[in-house]
Amino acid sequence: MTNAPWHRMGISLDCPACSTREREHPGTLTPLTTDPLECIHCAACGHTFTRLDALAHPISFARWAALATHMEAGRADLRPGDYAKVKLASHFDVVGPLVATAQGPILAKASLEWGEAVEIYTSRMPGHPDDQPIGVAWLVFGIQESDKVPGWWLQLFAAIQSAADGRAKPAIIDYAGAFELFVETVLSDALTAKYDAEAADHILNRTQAVTERVRMPLELATGHQLTEDHVIYDAWTTKVKKVRNALAHGGGPPLNPGDAEEAHQATIAAMRWIVDRLP
Ligand SMILES: [Zn+2]
Repeated sequence: MTNAPWHRMGISLDCPACSTREREHPGTLTPLTTDPLECIHCAACGHTFTRLDALAHPISFARWAALATHMEAGRADLRPGDYAKVKLASHFDVVGPLVATAQGPILAKASLEWGEAVEIYTSRMPGHPDDQPIGVAWLVFGIQESDKVPGWWLQLFAAIQSAADGRAKPAIIDYAGAFELFVETVLSDALTAKYDAEAADHILNRTQAVTERVRMPLELATGHQLTEDHVIYDAWTTKVKKVRNALAHGGGPPLNPGDAEEAHQATIAAMRWIVDRLP
């Protein structure tokens, strides 16, 4: 596999408007860079959307496809009881989930070695008659060139990874942090474009708390405050901000994976609301 853009790597997004899949209609959903806020244009229906829209998808694989800048996949042939190490074609700075599927009556397990290699193990199934090699298909999502990816996207990646692994507490702390970094990034860019870098710094330095930044600074940048939308703002406040504050102070309610999913949806909804109002 080469270092090609993600949309040529078999990673597939659905158009949220017409459900066209990039994988089935190559070249339909373009263009894309490492900027997660760049609009993807659907040639089939004319709709434009960002990777954030795809992150609201209920299927976790659609989320990983939207998050990743790189994917590699392959197949190894192993006898039951064998071990194989497959060197990845190129280094991943950040690795997401690794999936391995045995194509026969053996058990297979795979692990990642620091973004450099995939390790695959198999074991014999009771009663399996022979030791002929059996294919194990594997696939891994991740991020390359992480220095070109915004910090909030990397923290969102960490949040989604924790949520997928059932770790609700670190997930919600990272969702809260990702949103704060996101607000800082989009405000800094929008205020610099509207005024200048010095004015943007001044406005941001006067308001450090994210609950303040989504009010007047956001209005200066976009003409809108997040508090205008009670549903979005209240969901973010109750499902993310207040839970994060309680956890940071050593308290908070018992959490389960459903809480992390609610924090995910509240965070993505608030980010999309802001992106939709950017000039
Ligand atoms: Zn479409």
